[in-house]
Amino acid sequence: MKPNPIQPTISLDDDGKRHGFLRLPYSRDDSAWGSVMIPITVIRNGDGPTALLTGANHGDEYEGPVALQELAVTLEPEDIKGRVIIVPAFNYPAFRAATRTSPIDARNLNRAFPGRPDGTVTEKIADYFHRTLVPMADIVLDFHSGGKTLDFIPFAAVHVLEDKVQEAACIAAMAAFNAPYSVMLLEIDNVGMYDTAVEEQGKVFVSTELGGGGTATARSIGIAKKGVRNLLIHAGILKGKMEIGPTVNLGQPDGDCFTFAESDGLIEPVKDLGDPVKRGDVVARIWPVDRTGIHPIDCHAHIDGIMTTRHFPGLVKVGDCVAVVSLEL
Ligand code: CA
Repeated sequence: MKPNPIQPTISLDDDGKRHGFLRLPYSRDDSAWGSVMIPITVIRNGDGPTALLTGANHGDEYEGPVALQELAVTLEPEDIKGRVIIVPAFNYPAFRAATRTSPIDARNLNRAFPGRPDGTVTEKIADYFHRTLVPMADIVLDFHSGGKTLDFIPFAAVHVLEDKVQEAACIAAMAAFNAPYSVMLLEIDNVGMYDTAVEEQGKVFVSTELGGGGTATARSIGIAKKGVRNLLIHAGILKGKMEIGPTVNLGQPDGDCFTFAESDGLIEPVKDLGDPVKRGDVVARIWPVDRTGIHPIDCHAHIDGIMTTRHFPGLVKVGDCVAVVSLEL
């Protein structure tokens, strides 16, 4: 396969702490020999495990970028053993545009793996991580939230994996992250995901959903900051003691967790995030937007559990995910 065109402007291997960029050549009308400059920090202190930490895989999710910007400023080589690679804005063009997908090629980075060295900008970022950064890592954390269109109870997540030794290591890392909720996640659409690409390389992988609505809160950022430090301590990289509080363990065993809108309209939430629900309960109602005198369409939960996810904007379109209910384990 062709080499990836991305060049780091700093050493990824030397001891010490360096801030630089992953420089991705991007020739275009306003800059013939221009580049996309993805900020990166590498901190190393001798031999030990490597952690790869990313935020803004989707460009409108903010807990990861904030927590990782702070970590890049505050973490010092003498605090660690091994290496920490920090990329606060993984899909950097999307992050700068405050959009889920890239404004350059309209690609969703989390559906672009394994990527291509000769593909679009997003595919080149995916290929660089897939073939260069992920292979260096022992543990990988990718921060997500709901973005502009979804909102979540704050959780760390891992997937059900065929390799049960790897799955147990991922579960232990999720427990160390210690978000208020911990979820064994079912992906509805896992083709091309970073998660899958990292897991297929045998790495310990944790992702999160810490909030949403295209913003972050003091509370959700606090969860991110504590979680990443705990994870680094758990991995044997950061010195110190983990801060562990209670977590609620949830599962998403199958597609019955999801409720999708069957019409366009004005959404009325009937259950809020964190509320307990029973199978058959109405979780939301969809009112018409174009006339009065019509009853709303009810959206039902298909299992007993906890409201984990909700559609965020006030208007909904047919096929949108209205709610996700997770099972208490
Ligand atoms: Ca996301």
